[in-house]
Amino acid sequence: MKATPKRSQKLDKLRNHPFDLLVIGGGITGAGVALDAASRGLDVLLIERNDFASGTSSKSTKLIHGGLRYLKNLEIALVREVGQERAIVHEIAPHLVRPEKMLLPLIEGGSLGKMTTSMALWVYDFLADVEGDDKRVMLSKEETIEYEPLLRTDILKGGGFYAEYRTDDARLTIENVKTAEKHGATALNYVEATDFVYGDDGKITAVTCHDRFTGESISVKTSHVISSTGPWVDELRTVDKSMTDRHVFLSKGVHIVVSRDRLPLKHAVYFDVPDGRMFFAIPRLRCTYIGTTDTAYKGDPNAIPTYQEDVEYILHGTNLIFPGANLKIEDVESSWAGVRPLIYEEGKSGAEMSRKDEIFESESGLLSIAGGKLTGYRKMAERVVDRVGKQMEEDGKKLKQTTTKEIDLSGGPFKDFAAVLAYEKVIAEQLEAASLTADRAAYLVSNYGKQSPDIIKAATLRSEGTDVGRLAAAEAAWCIEHELALYPIDWVERRSGRLYFDMPSIEPILEEVLAVFAEAYNYTEADTQQERERVHKAMKWVSEFEPAPEGVVVPEVVEG
Ligand code: FAD
Repeated sequence: MKATPKRSQKLDKLRNHPFDLLVIGGGITGAGVALDAASRGLDVLLIERNDFASGTSSKSTKLIHGGLRYLKNLEIALVREVGQERAIVHEIAPHLVRPEKMLLPLIEGGSLGKMTTSMALWVYDFLADVEGDDKRVMLSKEETIEYEPLLRTDILKGGGFYAEYRTDDARLTIENVKTAEKHGATALNYVEATDFVYGDDGKITAVTCHDRFTGESISVKTSHVISSTGPWVDELRTVDKSMTDRHVFLSKGVHIVVSRDRLPLKHAVYFDVPDGRMFFAIPRLRCTYIGTTDTAYKGDPNAIPTYQEDVEYILHGTNLIFPGANLKIEDVESSWAGVRPLIYEEGKSGAEMSRKDEIFESESGLLSIAGGKLTGYRKMAERVVDRVGKQMEEDGKKLKQTTTKEIDLSGGPFKDFAAVLAYEKVIAEQLEAASLTADRAAYLVSNYGKQSPDIIKAATLRSEGTDVGRLAAAEAAWCIEHELALYPIDWVERRSGRLYFDMPSIEPILEEVLAVFAEAYNYTEADTQQERERVHKAMKWVSEFEPAPEGVVVPEVVEG
């Protein structure tokens, strides 16, 4: 395998160029930090030891939401901040952060009463400044059934209907990385921070980086360092010898994916399950996904398994509220499991711990940020870069204020969501004119926005292969060129989202996609075989479920 000239040039820069800020960790937090800092004029390097968004930022419920649940814990400031952030993140990327109305059924014996729900949803809207048609409405039992006929009717009392947004967390991360690059940042995946170099005053002056692609170790000079390593944040605090009593607690959450035909919901539903948790069931193009669990996790955060018990627990809760679906483990096409990097609070369970973010600053100047939500990434980035500004003041320098509220993410701009829907029609026409499958329009626009025509154009230049194969090959080639996709699995899992949302579509196009990577990175036959096996292993990992080993915490099914 051989790196592309673009990647080699970037590595050259790491060897020779001192940066203002080195950001470690390319999940949504790090990507947001890189964009915030670069757009304020800092010379930024973002490194990620695996692929961008390979940690928690591709394993969330993929909602840009205010966190209705946190109202219960009276986390008013948090709900207000993330509630308001929803609208901002939607505005800067409406093709990627889409309005998703949520149905909240009220059931006998459930945790939500009619009056309290009406009040809570009103407060929720009020805190987030929700206006017009997006304001919550309360529904009678009959109306609720009309909104979602698959709901169990005998225990249904009515419902609430309110506004949230849905995204693809990995794509949101990648578009932030690309937008940061447009503002001058340098971003590299598969580069790991392994150690820090300190000056005579004890402050970090360089970070030792290991390039996992070439095996090279590089000492990268930098004036400031932010660790946005989520579940791994304590690892680097330990390397820096700055661990304190405040540490991260990992709480595991699993989602399962079934074909839309098996659970053809008209709306996203947020519903009670008997043990007091609440699940989301979210329709998304050809599938519906459901989750999530919340169990303490002590294993390796790099490989979080979905156990048979996790799946059975989600299926049980889902079948109780949608009895006609009668979902079985064989219906589960895919799944994902992630860990929430929560800030530990003594005596509380994972579900009870706050979703607030926290910044740790060590004597060496290392700034570590953890906790928080996908939804709040822009504000978290602003806060931690402000802290870099404080550090700069000590050297008599001044940092500009953030403007990320006004920065459209790549793939845009779109005036509003109506413009996105109109654009989908344009893309469907382009696909049809190119004799490609027009039903990929929604997929292309939600993933790539206004970058879609470039992919379609490249597909028309390919003369061999099936329609779907040509389009997928063009898409993969485009992601190698523009989105730092280094391995086929990067594209299958995080650029295209197929591993989770469209498993059956992978096998028919895999050979074409492997050929594209083989050409770009000069694969030998053995390399191609290795990458084919990696994709197959990942497909197995998300769709075949072993029982949990003894002693591992799993969610318990409560009959209801
Ligand atoms: P991560 O995405 O984990 O990124 C950290 C990165 O650092 C990783 O990619 C890792 O590889 C890298 N890294 C670690 N060490 C090094 C090193 N030494 N060198 C280089 N790189 C390194 N939030 C919402 O707003 N809405 C939701 O619907 C939602 N649902 C969720 C559901 C579940 C089940 C979970 C687990 C979380 C959910 N969240 C949600 C929370 C949200 O996903 C997280 O807050 C967010 O993704 C955390 O992002 P991060 O960038 O901080 O961490």
